[in-house]
Amino acid sequence: MLSQELSFARLQPERVIVVGGGPAGLRAAEVAAEAGARVRLFEAQRAAGRKFLIAGRGGLNLTHSEPVENFPQRYRAEPELWRALLGAFGPDDLRAWAEALEVETFKGTSGRIFPRGQKAAVLLRAWLRRLRERGVEIETGWRWLGLTKSDDGWQLRFSSDEVEIEVEAKSVVLALGGSSWPETGSDGKWTSPLAAHGVEMAPFVAANCGWEVAWPASVLERAEGLPLKNLAVSAGGETVSGELLITHYGLEGGAVYRLGPLLRAMSAPALQIDFKPQVSAETLRARAKQFRQPNEWYRAWKLSAGAIALLESAAFSDLEATIRLVKNFAVHLSVPRPIAEAISSAGGVRWSELDDRLMLRRLPGVFLAGEMIDWEAPTGGYLLQGCFSTGTVAGKAAAAFG
Ligand SMILES: Cc1cc2nc3c(=O)[nH]c(=O)nc-3n(C[C@H](O)[C@H](O)[C@H](O)COP(=O)(O)OP(=O)(O)OC[C@H]3O[C@@H](n4cnc5c(N)ncnc54)[C@H](O)[C@@H]3O)c2cc1C
Repeated sequence: MLSQELSFARLQPERVIVVGGGPAGLRAAEVAAEAGARVRLFEAQRAAGRKFLIAGRGGLNLTHSEPVENFPQRYRAEPELWRALLGAFGPDDLRAWAEALEVETFKGTSGRIFPRGQKAAVLLRAWLRRLRERGVEIETGWRWLGLTKSDDGWQLRFSSDEVEIEVEAKSVVLALGGSSWPETGSDGKWTSPLAAHGVEMAPFVAANCGWEVAWPASVLERAEGLPLKNLAVSAGGETVSGELLITHYGLEGGAVYRLGPLLRAMSAPALQIDFKPQVSAETLRARAKQFRQPNEWYRAWKLSAGAIALLESAAFSDLEATIRLVKNFAVHLSVPRPIAEAISSAGGVRWSELDDRLMLRRLPGVFLAGEMIDWEAPTGGYLLQGCFSTGTVAGKAAAAFG
């Protein structure tokens, strides 16, 4: 925190002020400092990188090993813009960056890239040390309240407990995050100060999240907590391979996360599950023909307990109807789980508000980075990659501004 004496005074103008100490803000601060700017970063929480640390709990997936040319389609909208952003800082750059912090990376079986040990804490510690060495000052416990134009740049207001301060900057990077996991600081409460300047935003919605299903009690009794593996799952004309997990409220898992944007667009969201995507209906028929009982067919098809519980919840009569269900089982979804639980959020500042340096067209000298911009991506490292790429472009442009 800033000292009390400093906090009441108007601070010396900074070259670049970064607000938000998540990966996008830290990266913007790093790049701006490397470009020679004097940089100060303000973070509302008592420590920077809280969501980054949470992301490391289940294995920090930094980026993906698929060819960089495939990345733009993962971000769905604005492929040309993403090509440029990834050109500025792509997956190989991200691996090299981690390795320069003496944290090796490796490719997991799914092609995902992880830091050694898969945890975020070691990486974050080394990163913060490097930022300090580059002269970046990190002020924690300061909530950004808004900004106004000044003669020489921007005047930003921050509060901490009862104290309010104003800080001048030539240029500003806002990297305030989305609105999932609000306890990490990403509470999406930064929209009003930008709306006051006419900046247009799409409402936040949960992305990479579970969906609710009204399971019959008989399914829950048998299948709650069971995984469904090696599936092909379809919705809205798209099919993905992956896994699902049956929970008391519905479904979680990579397959439903990836189909989220399509499910949100459907008036009656539903998944079609193929429990045996590698096995044709003819082969299922051939394997079952010597048996008469459904449980013998299931054994012959090597179906999991979860799949069997779902199949038996549907009314079916004969082998042909059962094969149809195995290859095309419909699950009707009601609503996505609350945004507070989601891995990420879609929505935020619309791309149309930004130029190709990620500067707000209405507020020259104010740049944005990370999840606060209206983009979304599946899990697999694409979220952090997006934060690093946008942080790099915004940080460099903020240092060069004016
Ligand atoms: C459980 C979980 C697991 C995840 N795992 C992965 C993974 O393995 N791979 C991957 O790619 N992604 C993962 N993610 C997503 C990834 O963590 C986020 O996409 C990323 O942290 C977003 O970075 P950001 O810098 O844009 O925002 P954030 O990390 O949300 O940081 C924004 C910062 O801004 C601060 N802030 C907000 N408002 C103010 C204000 N008014 N004043 C001052 N400061 C403010 C917040 O306190 C916060 O520190 C995971 C997310 C979760 C929740």
